[in-house]
Amino acid sequence: MSNEEILVDLKSFVGAERRSLARVVVYLVEIEERRLHLELGCSSMFDFCTRRLGFSEGEAFRRLTAERLVRRLPVLLDAIASGQIHLSNLVLLRDLLTEANVDEIVATAGGKTKREVEELVARMAPKPDVQASIRKLPERRSSSSAASSRKVMTTTSHAPSRVPPPQLQAIAERRYKVQLTADEVLRDKLELARALMSHRNPSGDLAVIIEQAVDLLIEKLSKEKLGTTSRARLRKPSAQHGYVTRAARREAFERDGWQCSFVGKNGQRCPARSFLEVDHVTPRALGGSGEAENLRVLCRAHNRDAAERVFGRAHVEARIRSIRKHSSRRLDRNAPPAAPADFSQRKFEATRTTTTTALPSAIGGLAREASHVAPEQAQDGDARKHVRTALLSLGFRVAEADRALLVIDRQECDEPWRRPIEALVREALRILT
Ligand SMILES: [Zn+2]
Repeated sequence: MSNEEILVDLKSFVGAERRSLARVVVYLVEIEERRLHLELGCSSMFDFCTRRLGFSEGEAFRRLTAERLVRRLPVLLDAIASGQIHLSNLVLLRDLLTEANVDEIVATAGGKTKREVEELVARMAPKPDVQASIRKLPERRSSSSAASSRKVMTTTSHAPSRVPPPQLQAIAERRYKVQLTADEVLRDKLELARALMSHRNPSGDLAVIIEQAVDLLIEKLSKEKLGTTSRARLRKPSAQHGYVTRAARREAFERDGWQCSFVGKNGQRCPARSFLEVDHVTPRALGGSGEAENLRVLCRAHNRDAAERVFGRAHVEARIRSIRKHSSRRLDRNAPPAAPADFSQRKFEATRTTTTTALPSAIGGLAREASHVAPEQAQDGDARKHVRTALLSLGFRVAEADRALLVIDRQECDEPWRRPIEALVREALRILT
């Protein structure tokens, strides 16, 4: 094969790749329009793209951004197919594109590098100068404490930006390395627990201590969230009217294993374990009872899909819009947000307190002074910053990133930010795509 033939062939393959990319975008539009991803047991288009199609997070994000843009501006499809515009540039331009300017922008941005398009965006939508500010920086860690960080338990200051994110890494089959930075208080507690259970755990194995501590925590949280008691109480008669008692909720969650219970036609069960909601199989509005037999655990996307099938998409979307409007008005006043789209009685009682305490960090979180933050809030703030930075580097807008952070704040678990950063970024991407 001659050099020239290689180049000609390559050029034709690149052209085919671009045309095929445009076709992928068209199919994604159709999948979302028909809600096929939900039927296949995926909790979002992002979940569908990563888990079912095997795209990386970045690939999924760029393709889904293109998909949403093409729905609004179909002319972009030709620009993608011809290679006039790359998906990365489309991501940068997505907020500027309108029906009136799409042709002009595509012509201007065509063939430009990402850096050149960034400059184009800056010219078209200039941002105000960054305000000068002075803020207290965390103290430097001393060399002795840096050296001690190689030990299993380390001592560090409470400085937020110095606390590395917790890690949970598989090191062999069914074996995981858990790494975190403990402050002095946690170290003392661990040492005390080690001493108190030295007869039962003579080797002083930290994993044994942590497992027992987590067992106790799970038991406590289950009681708080679901009213779990050692003896199940009799259900209240109000279940007849669709009301969900704590006992029924607990039964539904335990039966469904804390996972969305939706099973697609292909037999695949939705993997979602966050944003779980209790849904009435026969809707409450249609006389469905609040007994566990009439309840199922669904993720938000599948709960919404189920509601749309019963009440119609237009009705559900109108309701979501009204809740969002109400929610943003409340946020403007710095008040706790309204509950997200709620088609059934499903909120845990404990959620209100969790949301309220997490909320100040959601709104003013990034601007707050490190010196005024309690240690646990500082760690949360650190995780938030990592996730926010990751989202911005993926090309999300500041407002979008903050919206994802806010949603995570409102998740129905007590410490939404105490998950590995990778899991948090995935969660944020799932929210935004
Ligand atoms: Zn689901």
